[in-house]
Amino acid sequence: MSLDLKSLVRTIPDYPKPGILFRDITTLIEHPEGFKESVEAIAAGYRGQGFTHVAGIEARGFIFGAGVAIALGVGFVPVRKRGKLPGTTIGQNYALEYGVDTIEIHADVLDENHKVLVVDDLIATGGTAIAAVGLIRRTGASCDHAAFVIDLPDLGGAAKLKAEQVEVSALMA
Ligand code: 5GP
Repeated sequence: MSLDLKSLVRTIPDYPKPGILFRDITTLIEHPEGFKESVEAIAAGYRGQGFTHVAGIEARGFIFGAGVAIALGVGFVPVRKRGKLPGTTIGQNYALEYGVDTIEIHADVLDENHKVLVVDDLIATGGTAIAAVGLIRRTGASCDHAAFVIDLPDLGGAAKLKAEQVEVSALMA
């Protein structure tokens, strides 16, 4: 690794609402070496461990997850917001600050023969990632690892995932 990847992520104050410091990964992915190194650094932690799929969480998890799937030579499963997938789906609700959201995967994509790595750009409270892990586990697939570009440890998400027997990695805090 030669780049300071963290310096390529910019922080935007008051987005999407006042008081929030948003970590913007678009500046990382528009940097060709930075994007490549971040995907490679995630994939390096999971080579040769029998993973069959990467599951990327909409939408920024698609960007990194697709790259990691290609780097590992495995399939990619999109974890999408409700109503976006064309086939029969299974869904999982999760709590937002105000209200509830739902993520979905195709019902026929995973089973007990599969071992899945969840990838997203960032873990904050962990609600999204825990819902994704729960959804994938309901198919019978094993899902005990999740990888992020950024962990915001003060928000406790990684600790919550670990409590669900999910090993967590992140490239930066
Ligand atoms: P959580 O469910 O862990 O609270 O929130 C994580 C989800 O929200 C991820 O899918 C992530 O893309 C998005 N997210 C929340 N805050 C940020 C942020 O500051 N920057 C980026 N890039 N994504 C965020």
